[in-house]
Amino acid sequence: MNFEHTEERTMLSDGLRRLLGDVTDLKALARGDYGWSTDAWEKLAEMGVIGALFSEEDGGFGGAGFDLMVTFEEMGRAGAPEPLLEVVLAGGLIAALGADSQKEAIEAIIAGTTQVAFAHGEPGSRYDLARVSTQAEKTDDGWKLSGRKSVVTNGAEADLLVVSARTSGEVGDTDGISLFLVPKGTDGLDLRDYPLAGGGRGAEIEMTDVTLPADALLGEEGKAFEAIETANARATCALCAEALGLMETAKKLTMDYLGQRNQFGQPIGRFQALQFRMADMIVEVEQARSAVINLAGHLDDDRKDREIHVSATKQLVGQTVKMVVEESIQMHGGIGMTMEYDLGHFARRATMTEHRLGDALYHLGRFSRLRGAA
Ligand SMILES: Cc1cc2nc3c(=O)[nH]c(=O)nc-3n(C[C@H](O)[C@H](O)[C@H](O)COP(=O)(O)OP(=O)(O)OC[C@H]3O[C@@H](n4cnc5c(N)ncnc54)[C@H](O)[C@@H]3O)c2cc1C
Repeated sequence: MNFEHTEERTMLSDGLRRLLGDVTDLKALARGDYGWSTDAWEKLAEMGVIGALFSEEDGGFGGAGFDLMVTFEEMGRAGAPEPLLEVVLAGGLIAALGADSQKEAIEAIIAGTTQVAFAHGEPGSRYDLARVSTQAEKTDDGWKLSGRKSVVTNGAEADLLVVSARTSGEVGDTDGISLFLVPKGTDGLDLRDYPLAGGGRGAEIEMTDVTLPADALLGEEGKAFEAIETANARATCALCAEALGLMETAKKLTMDYLGQRNQFGQPIGRFQALQFRMADMIVEVEQARSAVINLAGHLDDDRKDREIHVSATKQLVGQTVKMVVEESIQMHGGIGMTMEYDLGHFARRATMTEHRLGDALYHLGRFSRLRGAA
């Protein structure tokens, strides 16, 4: 099997590494001065990075699993918090289900002028994609939405929200979930936003009789679950690649520290006790890399095969993140705990990747269920 990236992807990766190195202000992020940078966002759009997340058919020039992997690994390596994952989720759903008029939004998303967010998770839904209790009621000339969405990443910044709501069925049913396009500032939409650990912003969204026109419905009524699961699979691949990039940087900072910090007349990296720990970390990160490559190559499989790889990868990457973060901080000694040192930002952001889209324990159970039903 050839693991070399194509020339285009290598160029994307190199260009992105240089760009993000210039625009990501780790000290300001650690202080919580900003959630993400509009300047960085414009530059990402200019470089065509947002377009790399969509297929040619949808107006982009990529969209395959390995495009996601390359892009998000570099975002992770730089510790960049810009909301690209929301493009994969909300943008991906518009591309998958949208009518031609709805798909017009994709051009502005790729140009970087329209921000999007996917309002799906609710208080109590944990990681279960089918636990939607927000209600959508059909009216004479459209829809009326009521309910609450929780930790909607990029929710307050989004010009366009993709909101899930139940048009039939019970909470937990895969059938009966519909998606709606909700523009910023729609009456009845109450947003409360806050900074997230490791950068970015989240929002709690309360919807009370949000009135939408008939053409706000995205795709077929009650049949959105499959597309949500597919977008989620792609986003999980992206998030795991981001975690991989974050771990690569934590690993590098730790190796550098072991080579620089002298104790007992020599760099502490000369002591075998630390060499063993470092070697374990390197092996674990390589294993996580193999898992992400494997998932990127299986994103277009049939539903069940794809989801088995999604849960296996998220579980393994989640465990590796925990190990790498803990070991990096331990081996740094006291300095690893300080806000002034960059490792803290990578440790926080990597830890947060474990809490998004299902943690290791959740995916272990899901993997067993998917395998058990084979
Ligand atoms: C929040 C916090 C709470 C703490 N609580 C405690 C506590 O309750 N009790 C306590 O005893 N200490 C405590 N410490 C201190 C901690 O034990 C030291 O931070 C640790 O010994 C690392 O020292 P250092 O920061 O100088 O790092 P460095 O000396 O730079 O060491 C970095 C790494 O190298 C390892 N290392 C250094 N020299 C050698 C060597 N010769 N062989 C093998 N490995 C080596 C260190 O263990 C560490 O993993 C605490 C520190 C923090 C930040």
